[in-house]
Amino acid sequence: MTAGRFAPSPSADLHIGNLRTAILAWLFARSTGRRFVMRVDDLDDRTFADVGRRQLSDLATIGVTWDVVEWQSEHRSRYDAAIAGLKGRDLLYECYCSRRDIAQAPRAPHAPQGAYPGTCRDLTDDERATRRAETGRPPALRLRTDAIVHTVHDVLHGDYTGIVDDFVVRRGDGVPAYNLAVVVDDAAQGVDQVVRGDDLLPSSPRQAYLARMLGYAEPVYAHVALVLNADGARLAKRDGAVTLAEIGVPRALAQISESLGWRARDVEGMLAEFDPAALPRTPWIYRPD
Ligand code: GLU
Repeated sequence: MTAGRFAPSPSADLHIGNLRTAILAWLFARSTGRRFVMRVDDLDDRTFADVGRRQLSDLATIGVTWDVVEWQSEHRSRYDAAIAGLKGRDLLYECYCSRRDIAQAPRAPHAPQGAYPGTCRDLTDDERATRRAETGRPPALRLRTDAIVHTVHDVLHGDYTGIVDDFVVRRGDGVPAYNLAVVVDDAAQGVDQVVRGDDLLPSSPRQAYLARMLGYAEPVYAHVALVLNADGARLAKRDGAVTLAEIGVPRALAQISESLGWRARDVEGMLAEFDPAALPRTPWIYRPD
């Protein structure tokens, strides 16, 4: 059965913007009869189980319900199997570059900004051995792509074309990269609708491309406008009262509902007012008081 999802990273408590995105993801899923998957993205070592538990508790408190909850750290074998499969098809190569190497690498005149310059793509066995000895750290694994750009369809943004470079699928420290884990999980969990903040829109062509390479269907995307502070920057803890504990449940729900032009004061009421076509396309500027 098809599903939507919300996938918080448990690095800090959810703020009002994250809660709003979670509610929107829930509304998209429930209004289309989908299951709802809650997935805690805790592969990174800057994430914490107690923060994840608090995030789930906050989401339940505002009325978001889910059919299943998964923690990525419990599914390492799933990502390892996908990586092994890509390796078996000779689609991966080792990369010894540091961030600095990448920033300083010579680029072709028309290479897209931010794309991996391909430094380690065609190394000979000897060159690889030399690089390994020089760097003294385990390599990352990159996907060998033959596309420069890929177009995805987004319910709110229409067709979106973005770069697909040779991106990392396993980090040098052995942790599966976000772009790989997200794709493998969505497929494993039957997720065919991805609703999240529009800061991740530029990642979606890479993810959709990888989904194709792994034989999965591309999901439907809806990247919703973010919540920003009064300076137009991403909302953060230092902006003041931004978490559920600080704002209070009734007030947080009222603020979220009003930001979407609704009158409801609970998520069931929001479901009745939900119309994807009428969602705001511009960021919500949040001013904590
Ligand atoms: N865990 C990611 C984040 O919080 C989101 C993953 C996703 O929605 O694809 O930024």
